[in-house]
Amino acid sequence: MINYAQLRKMDIANGEGIRVSLFVSGCTHNCKGCFNQDYQSFSYGQPMSFDIVSEIIDLISKKQYKGLTLLGGEPFQNLELVQFLKPIREFIDNHNKGMDPNSSQIKNIWAYSGYTYEQIYAHSGRRELLEMSDVLVDGLFIEQKKDLRLKFRGSSNQRVIDVKESLEASKVVRYYKDELVDRKEFEPDYGSGRRADFKGEYDFNIEQQGVQYVKKVKLVQL
Ligand code: SF4
Repeated sequence: MINYAQLRKMDIANGEGIRVSLFVSGCTHNCKGCFNQDYQSFSYGQPMSFDIVSEIIDLISKKQYKGLTLLGGEPFQNLELVQFLKPIREFIDNHNKGMDPNSSQIKNIWAYSGYTYEQIYAHSGRRELLEMSDVLVDGLFIEQKKDLRLKFRGSSNQRVIDVKESLEASKVVRYYKDELVDRKEFEPDYGSGRRADFKGEYDFNIEQQGVQYVKKVKLVQL
């Protein structure tokens, strides 16, 4: 049985657009400056369940949501995640079927790991989880390489990787050409159409590998 430390139901810091983020408990990498040491314990938090999977699917099925992000802890040391991810992957694949791959309505799964893409690929169990993800942010957080301008990653050794393209090309293919961004550019992609579900003002707790701040965002109905 695996535990999760936190289910963040609205997250704009860990991947593109509005996302649900699942923080899985347990990690043995022990990085210096780890952004959340509590989450290193495999017994921290609550047992993962299919009720949580249903909650995730309900949330990401809403038009405004871009998908799910897996973080930790270390998702790739919690391989039971694969069984919980299957229904979510199936929902996303059905949703995306027949859509232009560049459509803003495409949904996806991002995963963060302290392992590199190559280390994950070389391990059959971890590779299974990789193959269920669309984007991987890989590598340990290295304090000396911390750079606040980086997009969706904490230190410059980490890479934002397009998983499907990398698997097809048998080499790492980056997701972004330009991986630097100003913090002020961290704006959620609300998608288009009606936003009745989210009308109102929200505080987004943004926490990204050592950097924490609150951003006020007003969502209106078009
Ligand atoms: S991989 Fe993440 S959770 Fe694990 S020790 Fe490093 S910063 Fe902490």
